[in-house]
Amino acid sequence: MVKLKGFQKLTLTDQALTTWLGAIQAGKPMVETVALQDALHRVLAVDLVAGEDLPRFDKSAVDGYSVKAADLSGATQFKPAILQLTDNQEITEKQAKQIWTGNPIPKGADAVVMLENTKKRESGEIEVWSQLAPGDNVSKKGEDIKKDEVATKAGTRINPYHIALAAALGNNILKVYRKPNIAILATGNELAEVGTKPLGNQIFDSNKIMLQAICQELGAETIDMGIAKDDTDEIAEKIKTALKAADAVITTGGTSVGGYDLVPDAVNQLGKPGVMVHGVALRPAMPTAVAVLEGKPVLILSGNPVAAVIGFEVFGRPMICKLLGLSKTEPRPAVKAVLARKVASALGRKTYIRVKVTSKNGEFTALPVSAKGSGAITTMTTSNGFVIVPENREGISEGETVIVHMFADLEEE
Ligand code: AMP
Ligand code: MG
Repeated sequence: MVKLKGFQKLTLTDQALTTWLGAIQAGKPMVETVALQDALHRVLAVDLVAGEDLPRFDKSAVDGYSVKAADLSGATQFKPAILQLTDNQEITEKQAKQIWTGNPIPKGADAVVMLENTKKRESGEIEVWSQLAPGDNVSKKGEDIKKDEVATKAGTRINPYHIALAAALGNNILKVYRKPNIAILATGNELAEVGTKPLGNQIFDSNKIMLQAICQELGAETIDMGIAKDDTDEIAEKIKTALKAADAVITTGGTSVGGYDLVPDAVNQLGKPGVMVHGVALRPAMPTAVAVLEGKPVLILSGNPVAAVIGFEVFGRPMICKLLGLSKTEPRPAVKAVLARKVASALGRKTYIRVKVTSKNGEFTALPVSAKGSGAITTMTTSNGFVIVPENREGISEGETVIVHMFADLEEE
């Protein structure tokens, strides 16, 4: 813990996360069945076990002729082996049968010679120019996966290849976890719903829709709880309603250093344990609070848009991954890049730096993105990754190699 003005103490980021996730009483999510074509990006709820061998039979991996490998012993372009073509079900010594990729290997054959290494004679014989070992160009029954083996583990996010494997094994439905419902509430007297006409000094609420989009991107459903005024009772009422319908609640605004702590207060009115950590040694996003009510997670994010992003990145992502039933928090794809300009950070705080990674001739460069207000949401649309400066570092020098956690596409120069 770190001493700080405004907060009596700041909790280390990892400690805050572990404490919070440990207090969530979510069991495994409910299971539902979906058609294979609706399974993309869902989370598999039950191990997918192979009901049969794949391939289902020994099959040819190439176009050519199925043969007995022993018949080709010593064959070269100058001394080809001569085999008799047959249409029979089974081939015998010195025989060959035409075969296409994916066809079952006929009885008696143990290898397939590629068309390119053969020549057909008028007489109904073929010349084979190369030798083979038994099993060459044959995909063996069960070579991909054997009956009763686990094809895909429960807790896996389903991608197009998991779907293909399920189909190859004959499954047209999959058991997946129900999507969690995340209720999102914005707070602040200054906020106007986008689509309405702002009064005087009002600003548009952009955090709620952003958080909805991030949750949806992760595969959760969202519930729009609207905007609450800066009023503890109104906020508490909305959170209470949200808890009835949702698996988790996320709020933005009304949690600050020294200023009004309306949301944490409202949450603490509603029950125990309530707020577990308020004030994290994290930059931006220091005023983030994490709470549990009715066993469900409540994530209290700053109103500052970028602080809300980072607070969600650090706490929201792992929480949603858990509610999705994923076996672990999904990491962002990471790249190594050279930092193009030095960055500052405070000792004792985990710091998230927004950077724009570009690649040129296979070299990756990360340029820190700065804006006048560090809360400007444009820094999120002009950057594509985060560099995380750990608590024990004070800044990073120009030219240092850093790991960038990518949240948008890399740009090629
Ligand atoms: P707060 O955390 O309530 O002190 O809010 C800090 C600042 O973030 C406010 O002054 C607003 O400029 C901005 N802000 C708060 N809520 C939102 C929101 N929902 N969407 C966009 N900006 C917001
Ligand atoms: Mg506010």
